[in-house]
Amino acid sequence: MATNIPLTGAFRVTCEYKRKGDWAAGWHTGIDLVGDDTIYGTCDGTVTKIGWDNSYGNYITVKASDGKYHWFCHLSKVTCSEGDKISRTTKIGVMGSTGNSTDKHLHFEIRNSSNKYADNSNPAGYMGIPNKVGSYNTPNYQIGNTTASSNSNTTGELKTLNHNTNLRKAPTTSADILSLYIPNTTLYVLEPSVAVADGYTWDKVKIRVTGEEGYMINKNYK
Ligand SMILES: [Zn+2]
Repeated sequence: MATNIPLTGAFRVTCEYKRKGDWAAGWHTGIDLVGDDTIYGTCDGTVTKIGWDNSYGNYITVKASDGKYHWFCHLSKVTCSEGDKISRTTKIGVMGSTGNSTDKHLHFEIRNSSNKYADNSNPAGYMGIPNKVGSYNTPNYQIGNTTASSNSNTTGELKTLNHNTNLRKAPTTSADILSLYIPNTTLYVLEPSVAVADGYTWDKVKIRVTGEEGYMINKNYK
């Protein structure tokens, strides 16, 4: 499944968004990620710039379809070209430690439509993970060869989630988790109150963004 996360497999957050410190803005304008080397697109968009910066090193900027700019920095290698149309399954570069960087990592940053430094959106929220240093798993975030976002033929009640939640393969908390911490996601409720397991009532849902189907607890969405 395609995700909003630029990496696949296990990865770590080594510096969270908005940490205060010795940056020009006084805080960290992106999020630092360490994991597999291959970097994927995080949106449908267009590569607007491939460049070099003494701080950011080799970087790529992608203008997303919502007008925001996704920055991928400190790359060892860029594998896309300016003007390319990309998606969440496009390989765009390779993690590195170029520019002002001490160890190999990806600085992923989302700038608002001004594309100005320190005018940012929260990249952790966008990726659907906590804005917190830690290790994050893995098969839940893998990019497969799915024909994601096939939203046609979807029936059911459309609603937007206000909570973080997990999407599971079966209506039980012991089932495999398809996606962790889905925030503010538009989804279709295919069947309400499917079953009762583990003391919860579950809805079968389909997530619009990824095309995934699974189950979530319909009361607290945890
Ligand atoms: Zn950073």
